[in-house]
Amino acid sequence: FRVAVLGAGAMGSLFGGSLFEGGADVTLIDLDVAHVESIRKHGLDAGERRIHVPVLFPSEVNAVYDLVIVFTKAMHTKQALTALRSSIGPNTALLSLQNGLDNKLVLTEFADPRNVLIGITTYPADVKGPGRVESHGRGVARLTAAGEPASPTLDLLPGLFARSGLNAVIDPHAEAAIWEKVAFNAALNGLCAITGSAVGQIGAHAETRALAFRIVSEVCTTAIACGFALERQHVEEMLADAFAHHIHHKPSMLQDVIAGRPTEIEAICGAVVRRADERGVATPVTRTILGLVRHIDWSAATA
Ligand code: NAD
Repeated sequence: FRVAVLGAGAMGSLFGGSLFEGGADVTLIDLDVAHVESIRKHGLDAGERRIHVPVLFPSEVNAVYDLVIVFTKAMHTKQALTALRSSIGPNTALLSLQNGLDNKLVLTEFADPRNVLIGITTYPADVKGPGRVESHGRGVARLTAAGEPASPTLDLLPGLFARSGLNAVIDPHAEAAIWEKVAFNAALNGLCAITGSAVGQIGAHAETRALAFRIVSEVCTTAIACGFALERQHVEEMLADAFAHHIHHKPSMLQDVIAGRPTEIEAICGAVVRRADERGVATPVTRTILGLVRHIDWSAATA
């Protein structure tokens, strides 16, 4: 059972490295030259251990895989899968645990919906330098298939992940969980990216705190209009918990802005506003955040 991890940054390295240590036949695929060369030379530096997992540039790939786990940033998925097209056979399952609403749509351009597996993960990970990744804390992956009957690979995944110390469950409500995570990220990531503030500062200031809750409300209303039964109260509790306990956390979108990298704003706020417009749902705050972060991305790209 051959597994490829497409995009071996923070999350790809965590999942790919763990699967390799758990005995899976796994290959990382990435186009970051310094990162790939460092892993080849020294192994993947995961803090207390080095993991000598195989790693390829996309141009070097010549196998057909049983499972491709996509862990690029959402806006790079299409380009990454296009380069890998000849490695996707009729029975290859594509799995996305990326953030954002459009992963199912993009993956089904490359595989039958029955072979497209989607979900979310709450595992955290960071890249600390070329070939160096860090992950603190436990998490879970919640998985489902985009079409019926699901690829038999879906049933294999909880066991495959468990052998690698990763917690994964098949969850028929995983699409609602994707929306809940998008609501949470839409509320926090954009506000932090625009203000430069950590999560606790957004929560400590009355106006930004209120804006965050308005965004959750707009995203939940949109999700319900799209047919997903979200529990607004549950997302509000997640947000309040983050304000209370993740005070110094700088969400990935703020880290991307600081580093001058493009953000995932289109996959989060952009995807919500597009669906809201199609259904006549008003999303004034989410739309404003989208416009401002688009401006930041545009000015970084044209600098
Ligand atoms: P990352 O930027 O650390 O890694 C992305 C990797 O993809 C990079 O190494 C990059 O070089 C590679 N890449 C880009 N284009 C490529 C291409 N065409 N072919 C091959 N590789 C390519 O990102 P990340 O933090 O690992 O996040 C990945 C996804 O997981 C995102 O959607 C993110 O929102 C989501 N996520 C992240 C976390 C986290 O804690 N980091 C948690 C949950 C979900």
